[in-house]
Formats: sequence, structure tokens, C-alpha cells
Amino acid sequence: MELYVHIPFCKKKCLYCDFASYENREAEMDGYVQALITEAEQQASFCVEAIETVYIGGGTPSLLPPALLESLFKALRSILPLEQVREFTVEANPGTLTESWLEAALRSGVNRLSLGMQASQPSLLNRLGRIHCFEDVAASVSLGRQAGLRNISLDLMFGIPGQRLSDWAECLEKALDLHPDHISAYGLIPEPGTLLADRINRGEWVLPDPEEERNMYELAINTLASRQFQQYEISNFSKPGYECAHNIGYWRQIPYLGLGVSAASMLNLQKRRRGLSYLRTANPSSLDDYLRMVRRRRWSQRDRQVILPEEARFETMMLGLRMNSGVSDAEFKLLHGLTPEEAFGSGLKVSLQKNLLEKKDSTWRLTRRGMDFQNQVLVELLPDEPWAGSSDAAIKDS
Ligand code: SF4
Repeated sequence: MELYVHIPFCKKKCLYCDFASYENREAEMDGYVQALITEAEQQASFCVEAIETVYIGGGTPSLLPPALLESLFKALRSILPLEQVREFTVEANPGTLTESWLEAALRSGVNRLSLGMQASQPSLLNRLGRIHCFEDVAASVSLGRQAGLRNISLDLMFGIPGQRLSDWAECLEKALDLHPDHISAYGLIPEPGTLLADRINRGEWVLPDPEEERNMYELAINTLASRQFQQYEISNFSKPGYECAHNIGYWRQIPYLGLGVSAASMLNLQKRRRGLSYLRTANPSSLDDYLRMVRRRRWSQRDRQVILPEEARFETMMLGLRMNSGVSDAEFKLLHGLTPEEAFGSGLKVSLQKNLLEKKDSTWRLTRRGMDFQNQVLVELLPDEPWAGSSDAAIKDS
């Protein structure tokens, strides 16, 4: 199984950010780490298999003092089955990374670094509210390599207000010049309630039009392919052998335990007569509510949902189709006891006819066009009626 740990502290809130992240609350880091440890103790019984991948995300994990990071993982190792971890990623923000922090991260077991570069032009970084410049990214990559990290990923963003295709081309080239092993390229989504969405709604900033954004995505695919980066998921590209195992596990419905504010878990995977079921939980999305839940040991304040077989089948398609390897009849049948055609019938045919989906060698994949319109494919797979309400009782009966 997999472990995710959320560190919700940031130096400054980015304008587009709707993640659980807080500025000016560094004084609470000690208490937060203690809460993570308490939560791990409470959740440990769900870890019935060895944890193979760890991902520390945020927020800005590189803001945690090095000694605190080390003490967190020393404690987690004594609570959770972390002896067989093969990939251990930590997110860091350029401008916050130091040599001593990296040394502590490596001593904690980290072997993969994910850096939020986003853009290379100062004007666009400024527009996103990022605290760093491109030179900080280059310095962070260099620090990571000097520390001995052989797996470094860069996050990039396209579709930023004011961004031209030529800016994006330059950003890709500058990122490639740093010789990363993995690149994630996400289209910006202005999430409601963020400062960026407000500016767009007021007409102060204008997003690139959809055609321009599709051109940017196309450019990323072609540029990265020409530099031996294989696309293995809609937004993810890597050198051969450097795919992110943690994210692949998530798309393949490997169970995961999430610790921290807003962290989700997928646990208690069970294959029943009617197919796969599992429990999904989500921690409170506010830091105060999370700390209160842990302090008072009111674990019932988590959102809990039992995913029943019909919804689990949809999730297999929704997550699996994100990957270039797609969803094979055999793996779907192994999980659910029937083939995708038996589960979704006409829903798949519609997307085949629209050339959004293809089936080759008994495997379903999005076409290049389908990657742009994945939602249309998924809508065809949704049932007419909402899924039956899920409860703990329902899973016992299924
Ligand atoms: S660094 Fe990341 S988590 Fe923090 S505010 Fe910016 S986007 Fe959000």
C-alpha cells in the first residue's frame, strides 16, 4: 500500500491555490507533527500490507525544520510498516530548499524530489504569486543532485493568464536544460474562491483561449517526446524507468493511507461477491478542525464513504484511462469479476464512435483527442441514477 503525508505550511499563499495550505502558522509546526504521529498510531491497524511508496506533499514540506522532519519519520517508522519503501517523494518549493534540509530528508529515506517550478518568466511567476524565480529552481535542482538525489521531478503549468505559446516553449526548454527525470505539466484551472479566479471573473486577467491551451498541451507532448520523455499519464512525462510509482498506485487503486489536514485514504479493500468495495475517508480540510479532531480523538469527524462495486468500477475507468497503458479487460475482470463492456456497454461504444476512446489488444485507452475531452468519455459511463448511498452496513452485505 501507499502513504501520503500532508504538510500544510507555506511561506505565502499562491494566487491560484486552493490546497490546504496556510501562511504565517509556522509556530504550529511542532503541534502539527505530533498530531500526525497520533493519527498514524490510530490508523496503523489499517496497514495490513507493507507500505511501498511514500509521498510528502503540501503545502511546502521543505518549510519543516530539518530536525522536525527527521523526528516525524523516525516516529512513523516505529508505527507503520515502512521497511519496504521503494519510492519516497518529498515536494519542495524553490526558494525554501537548503542543504541541511535535504540532508535530513535523505536521512529520513527520501529518494525522490518534486519541485514546483511552474513557469520560467518572472512576470508569470509573479502572476501566480510564486515566491521564487527560475534561478531558484536551478539552484534547488543543483542542491538535490549534490545531495545524491537521482530522481528529480519538475511541476510546470500552462494556461496561465497572459502566457503565450512562446512563453510555454521557453519554459519547457529551460526545464529540460535542468535535466530532470520527470516532468508534470498541468493546465491551470482557476478554482472558485482563489484570488486568481477573482481577477479573471472581474475581467482583469484573461485566460488563453481553449484552442491556445490545447496548442500548449500539444507542444508539451511533442517537445518532451523529442527529448526522450515518455508520456505515461495525461499530465505526466518521464525518462524510462522514472514514472512516479506513488501516483501510478493511486491510478491503479492501490490502497493508501493519508495523514494530515485534508488527507484522503482508501482502505479496507475487499473483493466481494458483487465486486470490489473499499472505504474512503477524508480528514477535515481546515487546519483548526483537523487539530481539534486529533486532540479530542474524535475520529468520527472524518468523512467516511464506502465505495460500492458499481462506483468502484467507474473509478477504475476514471483513474485507469488517465494512463497511456489504459485499462485492460483482464485487469478490470480481475478486480470486478466482469469486463468493462459488460459493466458499461453502450457508454463505451459512444466514445469509440466519437474517436475519444480506442480498444487495442483487449485494452481501453483514450485517443489523443480523448485526452482533451476525457470528461465526455466519463459522462457516458455514469449511471442515469446516482449511486446507491453507501454505508458500513452496505459493505458488509455486498
Ligand atoms: S506553494 Fe503550493 S501549496 Fe503553497 S500556496 Fe503555493 S500552490 Fe499552494
